[in-house]
Amino acid sequence: MPSRYDLDPEALARALEPALDGEPPYRFRQLWDGLYRRLADPSELQELPRALRVRLADADPLRPALSLAAELEADAGATVKWLFALRDGAEVETVLMRYPNRATVCVSSQAGCAMGCTFCATGQGGFSRQLTTGEIVEQVVWAARVARDSGARLSNVVFMGMGEPLANYGPVVRALRRLHGALGLSARHLTVSTVGVVPGIHRLAAEGLPVKLALSLHAANDSLRSSLVPLNARWPLESLAAACAAYAGATGRRVSLEWALMDGVNDTPTALEELVAFARPLAAHVNLIPLNPTPGWPVLGSPPARVAGFAARLGAAGIATTVRQTRGVAIAAACGQLAMRSATPARAGRGGARGRGGHLSGQTGDIWNLASGSTGPSPRPSRTPSSSST
Ligand code: SF4
Repeated sequence: MPSRYDLDPEALARALEPALDGEPPYRFRQLWDGLYRRLADPSELQELPRALRVRLADADPLRPALSLAAELEADAGATVKWLFALRDGAEVETVLMRYPNRATVCVSSQAGCAMGCTFCATGQGGFSRQLTTGEIVEQVVWAARVARDSGARLSNVVFMGMGEPLANYGPVVRALRRLHGALGLSARHLTVSTVGVVPGIHRLAAEGLPVKLALSLHAANDSLRSSLVPLNARWPLESLAAACAAYAGATGRRVSLEWALMDGVNDTPTALEELVAFARPLAAHVNLIPLNPTPGWPVLGSPPARVAGFAARLGAAGIATTVRQTRGVAIAAACGQLAMRSATPARAGRGGARGRGGHLSGQTGDIWNLASGSTGPSPRPSRTPSSSST
């Protein structure tokens, strides 16, 4: 059964025909505008007749997909992480990061992940299921409401949470189009991160949707990368480089390379040379961040001095480089860690965090990589999104 942000306008109008029977056509337009422009719950749309609001409240296609299971704040309230329960009990994480002039949300695209990256909490937890378009879009709407209620404007969406977005291609692309069209976010402010699903990169390049592509690289020799990112054995670096070049050529967007610095693993002079050799032909931008350690892998992030030295040598080699700040350490910053912590024995008894996708997500550290900017204080978010005031 679809949720309120799953269907396109035509399909939602058809699904709501019984509830809208006898109403003028503009009522549906008011409802659609309320959902996407005002970020409102249908019950909050005072311009709709009360009897219609009552009918809509009972309409299955308008049921929400997400319910809040946990909320944690860090960075003096500038970072907030939510654990959402989906209707079937699967769980996903969403993170809102606020900066003085903007806000970024990191969304999950799958419950769990099948890619098995060794350093990632979600990879350690396994795959539960794909998310629907509506489950993805609703994460953004939730974050946009919280941002708005605290005086910030949600400007950026990064698909760096739980899951590999290009392994859930159709729902993710439909979500991107909905975020761009119905929610009005610039495609240039939408970022899809991948560990290297090469066919998906080529397909995305042909969509005519110039979103940013972030490649979670982490190693630029096939042996090391395959040990960190098992998918590399299927689509090794040569094919990845070709796909990134094709993406940049088709979209005019420079690809960014995400590199979670791991102590003694990929912060060596040799690793640096390999990264330079990979990045230079692509004119790629490199985002560095120390790894957020996960319970299932005994490697630490590189110490600050080595991070600084690595960045300086990249810069000296002519590679555009940014060292990203780590956000939300106090709330299990790297995606996947909150759900891992939240998996109580009782939950595990229902299938466990692994089965329900509770070992949340994402490329460890990656969500922070595009969340650049200063960390000035910002208002604390409300506990749950409040109603639209307009
Ligand atoms: S890093 Fe990304 S692709 Fe790899 S296991 Fe984690 S969520 Fe999946």
